[in-house]
Amino acid sequence: MAKRTVAVGNVNIGNSSVSIQSMTNTKTDDIDATIAQINRLQEAGCQLVRCSVPDEKSAIAMKEIVKSVSVPIIADIHFSHKLALMSADAGVSKIRINPGNIGGVDKAKYLADYLKERKIALRIGVNGGSLDDAHKSKPLAIAMRDSALEYVSVLEKCNFYDIVISAKSSNVKVMIDTYRLLDKACDYPLHLGVTEAGIYHTGVVKSAIGIGSLLCDGIGDTIRVSLSDDPVKEVETAKDILKACDRYDKPYCEIISCPTCARTNIEVKALAEQVEEMCKDIAKPLKVAVMGCVVNGIGESQGANLGVAGGKDKSAIFVDSKYVETVDNSMILPTLKKYILEY
Ligand code: SF4
Repeated sequence: MAKRTVAVGNVNIGNSSVSIQSMTNTKTDDIDATIAQINRLQEAGCQLVRCSVPDEKSAIAMKEIVKSVSVPIIADIHFSHKLALMSADAGVSKIRINPGNIGGVDKAKYLADYLKERKIALRIGVNGGSLDDAHKSKPLAIAMRDSALEYVSVLEKCNFYDIVISAKSSNVKVMIDTYRLLDKACDYPLHLGVTEAGIYHTGVVKSAIGIGSLLCDGIGDTIRVSLSDDPVKEVETAKDILKACDRYDKPYCEIISCPTCARTNIEVKALAEQVEEMCKDIAKPLKVAVMGCVVNGIGESQGANLGVAGGKDKSAIFVDSKYVETVDNSMILPTLKKYILEY
């Protein structure tokens, strides 16, 4: 379903591009460490950064943090109406809170009016592990959809519509089903993520399947990969997921490489890594192939704009699936660079 657009600082969630977000794991009241991590995240390509606000010290720290960084900051609040108001005063661009959990309709209305006046968006974050009793007897995906929509209706009754919804589960199938249901049920932008996805490798696989499946269906407006690791890796993984789903909105060189086999003549893995490193700052929409042999290399890399097909001492360079020259294997890298820059 086409989505509303919700402005979060200078990022519009719900337009055609999918924004990347992550979350700091420093103590928020350690202002210097938190600012340093936010800057690292932004440098890696993070467009929105969320910080937990577990106490008043953290809410006070938010003021200094927001002032010192240029990326929109989201305050992550649980239960406390007061911490949400303090974070709003600190200048955050969005608040993540569940309006049903802050002590009644009056407080929800007060918060909604407060945020509306300051043009601060709100994310409703339903989590499969913490559902209200009223929904617990339902199938999990339906329960999560209904819980999110119930929170939405609390805000709509307060005439508040700058809403983003997330409904995360650590179960990838449940997460996919829930977002599909939500996509059909409402036009609020959706924040995708697999929660508690795990340590790096497992978390990357789960996130790629969960977030990627939905993005390929055209569902999802902003994404967060959750890893028990350095949050910069979350941003790098999020970028790779967007690229794999053709939803990355900046030009870049994609490197493809063959899986190698008994015909392989060159060090494909090492060369592909070198090509990837060489291309990381080249903003051109190109597909570059590193293939291990000349027998199948050119044919198997259909769709690549250019590439190399490895030979024992010399290798074939090809452009648009046509052979162009043979080079000594020591010259593969500079020759590829020349063709990449010329293309
Ligand atoms: Fe094997 Fe050549 Fe295919 Fe690579 S391109 S997997 S070396 S046949």
